[in-house]
Amino acid sequence: MRPSQTKIIKRRIDCRKHVQNLKILIESSSWNSASAQTPVFSRNVPNPCPTMLFLVLLHLSSLNTIATQELRIGGLFQDEDDEAAFLLATHIVNGKHPDSPLRLVHDSHLTRDHNTFTAYTKTCNLLEKGVVGIFGPSSVYSSAFIQTLLDRKEIPHIETHWDRELLRHNCLLNLHPHPSILTRAFLDLVDQWGWKRVTVLYDDEESLARLSLFASSYRHWLTLRRLYLDSHGTYRAVLTGIKKAGETNFVVECSVEVLGEVLKQAQQVGMMTERHNYVITNLDMQTVDLAPFQFSGTNITGFRIVNPDSAYVEEIAQKIYGEEVQTGWNLRVKTALIIDAVELFYEAALDLTLRERFVIRSYPLLCNATNNWDSGHTIVNYMKGKTVTGLTGVVHFDTEGFRRDFVLDILELTPDGLSKIGSWDSGVGLTISRPKIFEAPTADEASLVNKTFTVITCLTTPYGMLKETTAQLTGNDRFEGFGIDLIEELSQMLGFNYTITIQDDGYNGDYNWTTNEWNGLIGAIIGGKADLAIADLTVTAERESAVDFTLQFMNLGISILYKKPKPVPPSLFMFVSPFSYTVWLLLLGTYFVVSLCFFVMGRLSPSEWTNPFPCVEEPEYLINQFSIRNSLWFTIGSLMQQGTEIAPIGISTRTAAGVWWFFTLIMVSSYTANLAAFLTVETLVTPFSNVKELSEQTEIKYGAKRGGATANFFKNSGDDSVRSKIWKFMLAHDEEMTENNEEGAERTEKEHYAFFMESTTIEYVVERRCSLASVGPPLDDKGYAIAMKKNSSYRNELSAAILKLQETGRIAALKEKWWKEKRGAGNCGGRGDEAAAATPLNLQNVGGVFLVLFVGTVLGFIISVVELALRIYLDTKKRKGCFRKEFVKEMKFFVRFKKNVKEVESSKCHDEEQRNH
Ligand code: GLU
Repeated sequence: MRPSQTKIIKRRIDCRKHVQNLKILIESSSWNSASAQTPVFSRNVPNPCPTMLFLVLLHLSSLNTIATQELRIGGLFQDEDDEAAFLLATHIVNGKHPDSPLRLVHDSHLTRDHNTFTAYTKTCNLLEKGVVGIFGPSSVYSSAFIQTLLDRKEIPHIETHWDRELLRHNCLLNLHPHPSILTRAFLDLVDQWGWKRVTVLYDDEESLARLSLFASSYRHWLTLRRLYLDSHGTYRAVLTGIKKAGETNFVVECSVEVLGEVLKQAQQVGMMTERHNYVITNLDMQTVDLAPFQFSGTNITGFRIVNPDSAYVEEIAQKIYGEEVQTGWNLRVKTALIIDAVELFYEAALDLTLRERFVIRSYPLLCNATNNWDSGHTIVNYMKGKTVTGLTGVVHFDTEGFRRDFVLDILELTPDGLSKIGSWDSGVGLTISRPKIFEAPTADEASLVNKTFTVITCLTTPYGMLKETTAQLTGNDRFEGFGIDLIEELSQMLGFNYTITIQDDGYNGDYNWTTNEWNGLIGAIIGGKADLAIADLTVTAERESAVDFTLQFMNLGISILYKKPKPVPPSLFMFVSPFSYTVWLLLLGTYFVVSLCFFVMGRLSPSEWTNPFPCVEEPEYLINQFSIRNSLWFTIGSLMQQGTEIAPIGISTRTAAGVWWFFTLIMVSSYTANLAAFLTVETLVTPFSNVKELSEQTEIKYGAKRGGATANFFKNSGDDSVRSKIWKFMLAHDEEMTENNEEGAERTEKEHYAFFMESTTIEYVVERRCSLASVGPPLDDKGYAIAMKKNSSYRNELSAAILKLQETGRIAALKEKWWKEKRGAGNCGGRGDEAAAATPLNLQNVGGVFLVLFVGTVLGFIISVVELALRIYLDTKKRKGCFRKEFVKEMKFFVRFKKNVKEVESSKCHDEEQRNH
């Protein structure tokens, strides 16, 4: 836990002065060990603090060590703080190793103006002095340029600032945690809090660049908002806009200098409430005074890399800021990193000298000469392999010289100040010891008894309407409707009071991306104009991120409202309709095939060969009634239910005829029955039967309620081609969009117009406007719910009550009342227009009869062959002839299809034949 931050800030300012003094003091001494002169203090130096004296003495004592080798290191810094930290770092390091053969000598310059040329000149100046390493510049802009020069000169270059463009140069080492790893930590924390929508607040291009990786990796809804100063020099204008937009989850990336001010002004505009959550990405968050927000209930979390409770950090903080500073809370990351960098450099150089017996020999280098130092790579490589525990934890590099393995503490602002609630490790990820951000509301907070709410609604039938009466009504009495009844039921169950107000513009809630504000009911809730909103308010992901919703009290989907289908005018060829085309074709084919079968069977069957002159006992020839023509006539006669004078005689032909008659009986009955259906049932048609067909035609115009959930459903269509086509049409034809559902229904009734509407409202409309109906299946599945401010303590109570009303059937009863009983309901009297239309019979319906016919005909064939064989057998037996010979003879006659007359062999001829044999 940190001590009072205000006190520390004051001390910090005092100590900065001390650091300045320290710098003047040391620089004013004759800082050249080679000359070994007694240092002379400048007369202007104010009284140094004890720490300074200690450092100076430490430094001076080391000047007397003759065997000590000096290593000159250079620094290029943007501000005096960094320069002072550098200076202190060399003293701390030298002080830590009084007997060491190496001693660091510092030489630094300020390059305040980000001017690359100045940085270049000063680097050259340092190189001429024979530096063995350069720290900085801390400006991102000039660092890359200097890096190229130092690479050429093979001088170790140590950076400590955030640099997205980390170049993998040989001589570069950056102690700042790698941006991509930091981004992972930020994403993990935001995920842990379960945010599905985030607003990133940044103050300049550099902070935007710092969070660009986060913005591109974040998988949910992200809005970027720049914190620019308004005409009064404050951030209030932009913060007010953000507040109006209903945004509640913020990732703040700004410099530590303005962070406190940003948070203070956020509090002033009302953005420091229980509803608001902040993740602060600046690793110096702990150095900002957050005491004013401790009791706001706002969830403020952040990170730190410097552990202020560590004894080493405390010691360094005291050395920098003076003895009176008891803790390390004020130590900034950049200061800590410079000290760690110098320490790492020194430790590496010392190891090289003592362990590897490497002699570090420095010499002056000229920028415009081609020579370079020869030990740079050795030192840098040694540094990469070295691990030191510094102020920013364990300093360790990967082979490319990036600092990827580090641990961050997760901090949260509590009423007791900032406390550590977990840690983030680049290997393990996030570990939070307290999983929930928001504490459950107390029983008292959650209870609604005797609370008074402002309930806002729109005048949308049948959810909220003005009573139709001549009496002068006041207050809640003026309104009626489904929503009004529902809120009344809830108030009776939960014991709260309420006052109804009306949202005049009639909008439920649409987000304006230009002004970044919500309108309608959602805007009223966010703006604090009302506590609860009840109407035909659809729950959408976008709205859910701005307000809280109860459980849905009604389920619905988007559908199309259009005129009822019209009956098709009767057709001339209606008689064809009972059978499908396949059945008709099959019937025709069957007719020919069966006729042919009768012809064949007739020829085969001996019984069908009859005496043309019954009076002549022994006819000379026989005739067959089943000629081709007669067979066709016989089958058509029975198909038409008329019959013919032809009567089958043989068993085979009679069997086949029986099956054929059965077939015709079934076919004709089916035809008659289905024709009756076609003649009595009206076939209804609509110009389109679903949303795809509607989008493909151009004759009928269509629209939806402007700014409503339905229009937004098409707007957020993504890759869905039909939905995006509809949205394009809506965008191009604003005149087709309506102000409300009533207007849409009116236009649908009177014009060539289709209206996208929610199914529940369509149900209501078609109950009253009898010429309208719903077309096609619902396009989605969603619901209406009551909206309230984010993180409202009473949401669960209201949801539970809604569930109870649903279970007891109260909500269904209310729906029945407002949909089916009140205000002109029942006009259309359920005409059952949706009765099933008659459909043609297809093969599946009549396939069985065809099968029976097939089996019967095959049977007829078999019988006719058996009949023939039997007759020949009996004849040959009687006449003592040869069966085979007779059978072949019969078959030969059979295939002579043209011969319709069969000659009869007389018994005389037969006897003669026998004798000849
Ligand atoms: N229920 C819709 C909404 O909440 C309004 C009607 C519509 O868009 O169809 O925005």
